[in-house]
Amino acid sequence: MKIYEMTNEERIKLLLDGGYLTAEQAESLRSRQTISTDLANSLSENQIGSFSLPYGFATDFLVNGVDYLVPMVIEEPSVIAAASNAAKRVKNSGGFKTFSSSKVVYGQIVLENLSSADIELLESKDSEIFEFAKEAHPSLIKRGGGIVSLKFNHYDKFLELELGIDTVDAMGANMVNTILEKTAHKVSELVNGDVLCSILSNSGLGQVVTVEAEINFSQLATKTMSGDEVAQRIVKLSKFSQVSVKRVVTHNKGIMNGIDAVYLATGNDFRAEEAAAHSFAFESGQYQPFSEWYIKDDKLIGTLKMPIELGSVGGAISALPMAQLSLAIMKIKDSTQLQSVVGAVGLANNLSAMRALVTTGIQAGHMGLQSKSLAVSAGATGKEIDQVAKILNQTKNYTIKNAQNILMQLRGK
Ligand code: NDP
Repeated sequence: MKIYEMTNEERIKLLLDGGYLTAEQAESLRSRQTISTDLANSLSENQIGSFSLPYGFATDFLVNGVDYLVPMVIEEPSVIAAASNAAKRVKNSGGFKTFSSSKVVYGQIVLENLSSADIELLESKDSEIFEFAKEAHPSLIKRGGGIVSLKFNHYDKFLELELGIDTVDAMGANMVNTILEKTAHKVSELVNGDVLCSILSNSGLGQVVTVEAEINFSQLATKTMSGDEVAQRIVKLSKFSQVSVKRVVTHNKGIMNGIDAVYLATGNDFRAEEAAAHSFAFESGQYQPFSEWYIKDDKLIGTLKMPIELGSVGGAISALPMAQLSLAIMKIKDSTQLQSVVGAVGLANNLSAMRALVTTGIQAGHMGLQSKSLAVSAGATGKEIDQVAKILNQTKNYTIKNAQNILMQLRGK
C-alpha cells in the first residue's frame, strides 16, 4: 500500500516497524494530536500527528485607535515579551497608525511561441480578455472584488498577461490561480501560442502597508540612559542598517519574528509573506530595511513599509479552529484590519530590538528568558525551572551542561 493511501495509524505503525519510532514515541505522537485526523489529512499529506508550538498573546497594541490582544505562535523566547513591551511604549505615546495601499494580488499568464500577429491580436482583445477574467470568479465580484487591471508585458520570447485581482478578505492564491487558468484557456483559444504557466505572483506589491509610531522620548529611557540619547542611538542604528547588508538582514529578521508569529496563529501562509517581504526589501537593487527611524519634534518616529500578504478568510484560516480563535481574540472583521495589526507587531518587535541593542544589548533580556527553555531542556520540571533559570542568569553561563549541573546540585546529586 502507498503511504498516501494509509490511515494515520498505519503510517505510525510503518514508522514503528521500521525502527523510526519507539513505542513510547508513537504513543506520545498519538496523544498529542491537537487537530482532527480528518482536518489534518484535508490540509496536508502523509499525516501522522500534529506539531505543537507555544501559543500566547502580546498585549497593549493600540492600532488606529483600537485596542488589541494579539495571539502569537512562536518557539523563540522573548518575542512576545518584546512585542508587548514596545507596544506599551507606543500606546503611551498615542498608538500605531496604519495606511494600506490596496488589496490587489497580481497573477501571471506566461505565453511563448507567439507570432507578432498573435501578440497584436491579443493586445487588441484586451477588453474581451478583461471581461472574461472578471466572469471567471463571479462570487468575488459579488463580494466587491475582482479584476482591477490587465497589462501585457514583453520579455524576450515570452508574453506575460499580468492580471491585478482584488481578493477582498482572502489571501487569494487559490482564487487567483483559478481565474488565471480559466483565462489562460480562453487566451489559448484565441491565438496559436503555448501557455507556459499561469500562477499568482507573491510579490505583494499590491498589498503594501505602512505603519507609523511616534514615541515620546520619556518612553525610551533606561536606568542609565535618557530617552533622548536612546532615540538618537536608535536613529544611528537605523541608518547603519541601510548601509550594511549583514545588519539589515538581522534587522528584518527581528521584524519577521513578530509577523510570522501572528501568521502562524491565524493560519496564514508565512512562506508567501516571507517571499513578498524580502523581494520588496530588494526593490531598489540593494536589500533594505522594512523600517526606518528618525527624530522629529522631540519624538522618535518609526515607519514600517512592506507588503503584508494575508487573508482573514479562506484556506487554513477558515479550517483551523485555533486560527479562528486567534481572529476572535483580536475581534478581526476583515483582512485590512488584520494587515494593520500584523504591521504594528512587526514595528513593535523592531523597536524593542533596536532599543535593547543600543542600550543593554540583546542578551540581557533574551537570555534571561532563554534560560527557562535551557532549564527544561536540561530536565527541570515544575518549580525547578525557575530555580535553574535564576542560577543560569546569575552565572550568565547559558549552556545545557551548566543547566544540567545546576539541576543536579538542586536535586542534591
Ligand atoms: P480559498 O481557496 O479558501 O478561497 C477563499 C474562500 O474564501 C473562497 O471560498 C471564498 O468564497 C471565501 N470567502 C468568504 N468570505 C470572503 C471574503 N470576504 N472575501 C474573499 N473571499 C471570501 O483560499 P485562497 O484563495 O485565499 O488561497 C489561500 C491558500 O492558497 C493558502 O492556504 C495558501 O497557502 C495557498 N496557496 C498559496 C500559493 C502561493 O502563495 N504561491 C499557491 C497556491 C496555494 P467564494 O468562492 O464564494 O467567494
